[in-house]
Amino acid sequence: MTSRRRAFVLGGGVAGLAAAFGLADRGYDVSLFESRKQCGGRAFSSEERETGRRLDNGFHVMLGCYHGMRALLRRLGTEQGAQQDRRLVMAYRFGPNRCASLKLPRLPVPLAMPWALLRLGIPLGARMRAFRGMASVMFGAPKQWTFADWLQRRGQHGQPDQVMWRPLCRAVMNVEPEDASASDFLAALREAFMGRASSAAFWIPTQPWSELLGDPAPRALADAGVTLRTGARVTGLQVAGKHVTAIQLGDERIEVGGEDLVVSAMPWFALHKLIGGEQSKFGECAFGSLDSAPIVSAYFTMGDAENIVEAPPDEGPVVALVGGQPFHFLLRTPGDPVGRFALLSGGDRSFDGKTVAEIEAVAKQQLRTFYGDGAFVDALEHAHVRIRKEQHATFVAAPNSDALRPLPGRLHGGPDNFLVCGDWTATGLPATLEGGVRSAEKLLAGLPS
Ligand SMILES: Cc1cc2nc3c(=O)[nH]c(=O)nc-3n(C[C@H](O)[C@H](O)[C@H](O)COP(=O)(O)OP(=O)(O)OC[C@H]3O[C@@H](n4cnc5c(N)ncnc54)[C@H](O)[C@@H]3O)c2cc1C
Repeated sequence: MTSRRRAFVLGGGVAGLAAAFGLADRGYDVSLFESRKQCGGRAFSSEERETGRRLDNGFHVMLGCYHGMRALLRRLGTEQGAQQDRRLVMAYRFGPNRCASLKLPRLPVPLAMPWALLRLGIPLGARMRAFRGMASVMFGAPKQWTFADWLQRRGQHGQPDQVMWRPLCRAVMNVEPEDASASDFLAALREAFMGRASSAAFWIPTQPWSELLGDPAPRALADAGVTLRTGARVTGLQVAGKHVTAIQLGDERIEVGGEDLVVSAMPWFALHKLIGGEQSKFGECAFGSLDSAPIVSAYFTMGDAENIVEAPPDEGPVVALVGGQPFHFLLRTPGDPVGRFALLSGGDRSFDGKTVAEIEAVAKQQLRTFYGDGAFVDALEHAHVRIRKEQHATFVAAPNSDALRPLPGRLHGGPDNFLVCGDWTATGLPATLEGGVRSAEKLLAGLPS
């Protein structure tokens, strides 16, 4: 009798979960080691001590074109835990007395977008320029361009930049156009905007992320025959010749055979810390130079949430605060009371070193700027606010950062039985949940059958 080949997956974020399921489906005897108490990686929730309510580490929004992520949620039995819109709807708030919305009709996006742009509440000249810009998305951009270069060369200054492109760039790339790779951003847009109306639509979770990923994972993994160990931090990997020969979990050493696979699904900074000092053994480790971008969220509850007296108007789940700094979006969980909402800041470094009280004060000030000084703004004084700060929320997909992102699979010059995946590998997408899952799919597609 021949024993099954073993696979050790290191890290239980969406990439690690997708890799573990895929390897088990291919007949491997899979063990998944996750350093935290729960799977889910960068999409998780924690309990508020006072209320027992589970709050996410930050708002995560999906798109209809996230096919890999949707398949993972199906596998976990939680695909219904998101509001699945049929078309893109997004609100824009310019200040206390002005808002607009982009609503795509339920037509294929290339047909729907011109129509929606023409109805967007900005001057005609700006709409026409935005329309020309949208049409040129399909031509991509040279690798060395920032998205700001593209905006300038495509005549998208002024309102198209402020209203349409900048919020989209922040939402997808988590940095300002000045720091984002134009080619990566346009590739992501083409995927969302070149197909059916539902591909570009938001999928917004209606439950905390731990309920979608972390909670159901142990059961679903067990059903697939995967052995999950949480609280299992990988502290070292031994290499001899062209193979990883052991995994170190603190004092515990797990022997690895030359036929076994070790799949890292850790984030770039954690993997680089683990193996970066041993570049000669692990091959090309340039990914250690990828920069990180933070995400800061301020979760507000007005009054006691169920009995709201004052709240900002409900303009839908995603509201872009046009020209807003440092918070860029106001977000709501569908089905939540109107007095619950969050402000989100992506890629803004001005919070570095700031205390929670200082961040809360900035968030309240920004609400005053955008919603005027009515009764809601007065009630802000008594709002319950929780701040969540993620320093390494995403890697920065900057111009030429492709050169730092290895293909999912074996590292160039690295051990034969050591493979990597994760959103930061070369998936063709920026740092997204979908990128994480696709990296695992690409890794699996490269395995010998
Ligand atoms: C606040 C926030 C908001 C975001 N918003 C969005 C959004 O709206 N839409 C979107 O698509 N994406 C969003 N993202 C990005 C998205 O979360 C990531 O792209 C995605 O989760 C990456 O998945 P991953 O599996 O590649 O990596 P990770 O989720 O980082 O998973 C890696 C896992 O490895 C584990 N690990 C690390 N070191 C070790 C070790 N030594 N031993 C064992 N395990 C280890 C970690 O604990 C983690 O569970 C957001 C991220 C954050 C933080």
